[in-house]
Amino acid sequence: MSILPILEVPHPILRKKAKRVRSNTKKELTLAYDMVDTMREAGGVGLAANQVGELWRIIVLQMPDEEESRIYFNPAIIKTSGSREVEEGCLSLPGYRGIINRSVWIKFQGLDHTNHVVKFEAENLLSQALEHEVDHLNGILYSDHLTEHRNLYTVTQEDEGLAEQDVKSAEIPTSLKID
Ligand SMILES: [Zn+2]
Repeated sequence: MSILPILEVPHPILRKKAKRVRSNTKKELTLAYDMVDTMREAGGVGLAANQVGELWRIIVLQMPDEEESRIYFNPAIIKTSGSREVEEGCLSLPGYRGIINRSVWIKFQGLDHTNHVVKFEAENLLSQALEHEVDHLNGILYSDHLTEHRNLYTVTQEDEGLAEQDVKSAEIPTSLKID
């Protein structure tokens, strides 16, 4: 088990599409468990393999109300419905949060750490986190979903958990600007 360095914008690997995992052998599982350790250490809700420099379709999640972390190989969003505004942050984009639209409901499929295909429906934070992490595997960052510049703002370290309070208008790095 080890803590891996988390890549930050504008690292090019964050813009690459990850490859499907053929089987989750010991090598893939070791990476997934290292990702779990890294995510927990960073206090994140999710982490995708691109963020630790590995272009494999692997994501891990830690829901605040769940004891065990979730590990999925070849995760896919197979159906979505609705649209809602959510506030989002990313470990690869520290110091920022943004307001974007995510689905209200999704249907998800992936391979779990025991090599079983899992299929379930999700809402709320779980669906938001799954959409965020699957986006990463396709080289997409949440800032790509911003509809207006003012919807991205800076947060101080102390605000990171309480992002709704006292937000300042952000100076947006060039790499984040919306076309
Ligand atoms: Zn992220």
